[in-house]
Amino acid sequence: MNDIPAGGGKTVGVLALQGDFREHREMLERLGHAVREIRKAEQLDGLDALIIPGGESTTIARLLISNNLREPVRAFCASGLPVWGTCAGAILLAKEVDNLDRPGIEMMEISVKRNAFGRQLDSFEADLEVKGLEGRPFHAVFIRAPLITEVRKPATALCRLADGTIVAARQGNMLATSFHPELTGDSRLHAYFLTIGHVGSRRPAAPEGAPLELVPYLDTAGRITIWPAKQQAKQIAVEHLAGRFERGRRYTENEVNTLLVQAHTFGDHTMLRRYLCDFGFLERTADGSSYWRAETAARAPVGTP
Ligand code: GLN
Repeated sequence: MNDIPAGGGKTVGVLALQGDFREHREMLERLGHAVREIRKAEQLDGLDALIIPGGESTTIARLLISNNLREPVRAFCASGLPVWGTCAGAILLAKEVDNLDRPGIEMMEISVKRNAFGRQLDSFEADLEVKGLEGRPFHAVFIRAPLITEVRKPATALCRLADGTIVAARQGNMLATSFHPELTGDSRLHAYFLTIGHVGSRRPAAPEGAPLELVPYLDTAGRITIWPAKQQAKQIAVEHLAGRFERGRRYTENEVNTLLVQAHTFGDHTMLRRYLCDFGFLERTADGSSYWRAETAARAPVGTP
């Protein structure tokens, strides 16, 4: 019996756009966890951890974008909960890839080279020492695997082949492996993965003063990591943002932008500025040179998407 008891009882998401997500599901279920296949952004809510499986990285990158999942998955990585990319998943997590025709998730300070082991080595197996795993070596399966060619701080190498080639790396709550631990009977890496990041918690508690409804959308610093889809949650999020502006003070557009950039992580301060004005929390001169917090209660938004 290879399993390490891992406590079980977590809800783990496995990105299920393409690739070998079913094998991860089986491994996680054997460890006693609930598994949710992720195809839409809303399905990320309430997860304890997320796996990006192996498969074809260009296909998964394309589907991440067309399913509007790229930014939400990036926000999930920033939330501090465990995220693990295996093989194609590791390619997608890397900030630098030699040959990918569109952006992946790009959250880990690693460089990877796709299909780097050459034709004669399309697939191979090796026994590896993995930092953090006790006991016998981990038997790893490589299939058209990527090489991790560089690991930059704060990422660190966790595991190397005998010739020094890096095949696993970790950066805080994120883990990348070139190989496929879901294809062997050994669940130690799945168990280890669930101990990195915010152990045992769902999303981190909201910072003081943040409304409870916003908790799923905030990181520990109170930044909005995902833009809510529901109108009511949007309204609360915009009101929360408005709280960052002092009453009675005038702001230039640049100052507004700076405050908003600090208040979220998904890279769309222009949209946030527009919502603040549309929902009546900020007023501005006609030429947009000066903004201030509205004195009156915000009016109900009319026809805002
Ligand atoms: N070669 C694949 C790619 O580059 C990865 C292979 C795998 O996930 N097993 O996307």
